[in-house]
Formats: sequence, structure tokens, C-alpha cells
Amino acid sequence: MKARVLSGVQPSGNLHLGNYLGALKNWAEIQSDYESIFCIVDLHAITVYQEPEELVSKIRETAALFIAAGIDPEQSSIVVQSSVSGHAELAWMLTCVTPLGWLNRMTQFKAKSEKQDTIGDGLLQYPVLMAADILLYQAKIVPVGEDQSQHLELTRDIAQRFNAQYGETFNVPETRLPTVGARIMGLDDPTVKMSKSVTGTNHAIALLDPPEVVRKKIARATTDSQPGVDPENMGAGIANLFTIANACDPAVTRSVVAGMRYGDFKKRVAEAVVARLEPIQKKYKEITTEPGYIDAVLQRGLERVLPIAQDTIRTTKRAMGLYVPGGSV
Ligand code: ATP
Ligand code: MG
Repeated sequence: MKARVLSGVQPSGNLHLGNYLGALKNWAEIQSDYESIFCIVDLHAITVYQEPEELVSKIRETAALFIAAGIDPEQSSIVVQSSVSGHAELAWMLTCVTPLGWLNRMTQFKAKSEKQDTIGDGLLQYPVLMAADILLYQAKIVPVGEDQSQHLELTRDIAQRFNAQYGETFNVPETRLPTVGARIMGLDDPTVKMSKSVTGTNHAIALLDPPEVVRKKIARATTDSQPGVDPENMGAGIANLFTIANACDPAVTRSVVAGMRYGDFKKRVAEAVVARLEPIQKKYKEITTEPGYIDAVLQRGLERVLPIAQDTIRTTKRAMGLYVPGGSV
């Protein structure tokens, strides 16, 4: 039997190059070696306010982008998190074994709560829900970007604490980071990671940005005041562009010579990105013009994963001494 892989993306905005290079690209590459489940994590998205009409369309758009980026729905299950009630159920059970101090330490919580007038409890609980997503399917490998490493560490701690208190129940998962592109930074500010939820027209390259927009954004990307590229001593902005180019097409970075003017360098980076995005955008167009296709994919994904989720919920309830209807052992 193949080991299971689980990962997800929030439908909280426009998917960007960081999501692709940090997550989706990696998923597509490893999917055939594992039994893969890829979730559109809408319950995570509502930890900060989402416009309802916008959210429901972003859920379908995110699913379509998974496929456009190379996830094969015949092979991998694509699922909307809220359609499997086990995610929320297990999150509650895990909440009850998670010390509050563990959650207060999370850097994502600190960063996201700074931007809110009122901090919803969901923002604090976010990593427990993420632990539930992973443990619900007894996933072995979790391919994510570097920003999620701390949450993965917490997931392992929660699984181990639960196993110690209630007996071996959960597999303790491993984090899988991509070798290049694990942390893509914002084009407007290379000291913060590229994020869907950060506003600013020049912050992120969206996967659906047309080529001319990609070129413009890269041309405007923040760099330092050196006259040309110095591969031995790159500032944060140039280093970020270098990583982007390397992840899109390593041949481009090999062609960069010391002293190359920033304008010329940026043009090469832009062409590498445009060439990477072109087939994704083409495929996206194809699948979104086929009526009912995305809903059928999501239904199939749901049917495949539901029995796994229900099995874990029963096992966890039994371990904790909760009542399982019709389920005397
Ligand atoms: P949000 O701002 O709403 O949190 P996000 O851009 O951080 O959105 P998520 O949906 O939280 O995206 O994350 C989806 C996946 O993309 C995760 O595996 C995450 O680690 C990865 N990821 C997100 N941003 C980056 C980035 N800048 N570089 C590399 N990987 C990233
Ligand atoms: Mg995020």
C-alpha cells in the first residue's frame, strides 16, 4: 500500500507563485508515489473574514488551479475541507489535548492577529485544525512551504501527546519542503513572505496574471542600489528573484553572469516565470469552460476520502471513551 500524502491551500485570495513553487509544484511531482489528498481548506480561510460570495467562487477556482498546476484528479483526491465534517470534529478532540501555551507561540498567529481589530478564536485554533486535517487521514508526508514548518512541528507534538494519553492512535507525520522555492518573498518587500492575504498590487505574482502583468511586476520588484548582479553578494530582492528563476527554470540562473544589469536580469526572470505559467493558464481555461467538471472532481474526491475520515473519527472516539453510535467493540 502507498503511504498517504496530505496538504492544502486556503481559498483566501488569488493563488500566487509562492503557493505554486512552495506547494503545488511539489504535490504534482510526488503524487504518483503516494496516495495523495489535496484539500481546499475553506474552514481555515474563515479564520479571517471572507466575503461569502467571493469565498464560494474562490473554492472552485482553487480546485481548478490544483488541476491546472498538474494535480491529476484520477490519481489524487481533491477535496473541500468543510465537506468532510471529520475535520471540525477531530479539531475539537485535539483542542482538548492541546496546551494553550503551544498555540500562543505560533508565529503565524502573532503575524495575522496583528492585522485584526478583533482577534477571532479561530485564528488561535488554526494550527489545531491543521493538525486535524493531517491526522484525520493518518498522513505520512505533508508537503508544504517553509512558513508551515512550525505548524507541522505542532502537529507532531499534538499527535504524540494524544498517543501518550490515550494509546497509539495517530501516525506522526513528516514535513516535506521543496529544495528550491520553500519561501518566496514579496516582490514589493523581500523581507516578508509572499501571501494571498497581503494587499498591494506589486506584492505577489498571481498564477492567473497575464504575461504583460508578470513582466511589469517583476520589472518593478524591489532591489538594492548595486549597479549589477553579484552572485556572491545578493541583496534580499535580487536573491528572491534568483530563487524564483531557479525554481521556474534553472537554465536561466545558470545564464546569469556577474555584473549583469538588473534590468536585463529581471527580463530573464520574467520570461522564466511567463513560460512556467503559460501551460497552467491554458489548462485552467480548458477545465473552467467545461460545465460541471470541477464539481464532479470534488464529489469524487469526497467519496474517496470520506471512509478514511469516518474510520479515524470512530477510532479516536473509542480511544477517548466517547460514545460511538452502534459501535460496540
Ligand atoms: P494566506 O495569506 O491567506 O495565509 P498564503 O499565501 O500564506 O495565504 P496558504 O493557503 O496559507 O497561502 O498556504 C498554502 C501553501 O502554500 C502552504 O503549503 C504554504 O506553506 C505555501 N506557501 C504560502 N506562501 C508561500 C511562499 N511565499 N513561499 C513558499 N510557499 C508558500
Ligand atoms: Mg498562509
